[in-house]
Amino acid sequence: MISKVLDESDVGRFKNLLRKSERIVLTCHVRPDGDAVGSTLGFYHVLKSLGKDVYVITPDMPPRSLSFLPGFRSLVPYTKYGDYAERLLSGADLLICCDFNKLSRLDAFSEVIGRSVCKKVLVDHHQFPDYFADITFSFPSMSSTCELVFRIIAALGYADVMDKDAAECIMAGIITDTRNLSVNCADPELYLIMYELDSKGVDKSEIVREALEIKSEDSFRLHAYTMSDKLQLIKEHEAAIITLNREELERFNYERGDSEGFVNDPLCIRGITSSYFLREDPDCIKVSARSVNNFPVSKVCEDLFNGGGHIQAAGGEFKGTLAECEALLKSSLCNYDEYIVKSK
Ligand code: 5GP
Ligand code: MN
Repeated sequence: MISKVLDESDVGRFKNLLRKSERIVLTCHVRPDGDAVGSTLGFYHVLKSLGKDVYVITPDMPPRSLSFLPGFRSLVPYTKYGDYAERLLSGADLLICCDFNKLSRLDAFSEVIGRSVCKKVLVDHHQFPDYFADITFSFPSMSSTCELVFRIIAALGYADVMDKDAAECIMAGIITDTRNLSVNCADPELYLIMYELDSKGVDKSEIVREALEIKSEDSFRLHAYTMSDKLQLIKEHEAAIITLNREELERFNYERGDSEGFVNDPLCIRGITSSYFLREDPDCIKVSARSVNNFPVSKVCEDLFNGGGHIQAAGGEFKGTLAECEALLKSSLCNYDEYIVKSK
């Protein structure tokens, strides 16, 4: 039995909003990952089954690696279909925001949401949410927004409406945010949720292979190059840094999503507590950070890169050159040594 952690009055108010809404739009953060796409599409399938007119708008292009998810082709990226997305939102009764805590995480699409007058619900697992929505479901202790989506759907009484497609999307978010149940999965109830999703007929091994393992040849070779030629270990701060500049990305025909997961790998090295990946994107230097032993990379990203996230998985953006970003990170690492837990 899954325990009741949601506020019952919030669930009741959400159910009322759903009953009254005909057109429902869902959205998620920019550069959407498995949890962002999984949570919006999970809701999408359930709400479709309830007879709603449902759309998912992503602030920008979703990665091709998630194209195996049912419903992926119905996603409306704002950067590609701006006018259409604006029309969809202006005719919506309800907007459900998934997997982000601040509207600024939606880049240009945040202005469109700021202007929209429809009711809004936030469903998220990041710390310190902004309370811009009419109802806020914020649970930073949960493994993923998809875990929360499952709990909300069950609490609404729609568990039976959750079909295999919905369950597959929700399981994909749990699998990607926990890296196949290896991080952020201390709560044993997550396994009860996995059992329920499995019972809907979802093939977990296919999700693991599609969402976490399979790569294009270019992406595979970029990974090998990055780990062999671009890994720097700053041992006195137990940190690893990898960087990729435009020329390197172009050499391997980089496509969005091709470097997904790279930042995790240096944590396999004994003695490394935090790992940083700096990538030269067209508009900024994109920073991704991961850690073990509760080293707060979210704080590092907040302090240095106008970002944030979870204690052990965070990110941000840097306006400037890749060299400046790298220099700032290296010169700042000493400020975080106090958070390194010395092993016995
Ligand atoms: P990733 O490294 O996979 O891009 O992001 C890991 C986590 O860091 C995300 O789930 C999100 O919580 C957070 N994150 C990534 N980029 C940003 C950013 O630019 N700003 C903020 N506030 N959080 C970010
Ligand atoms: Mn997430």
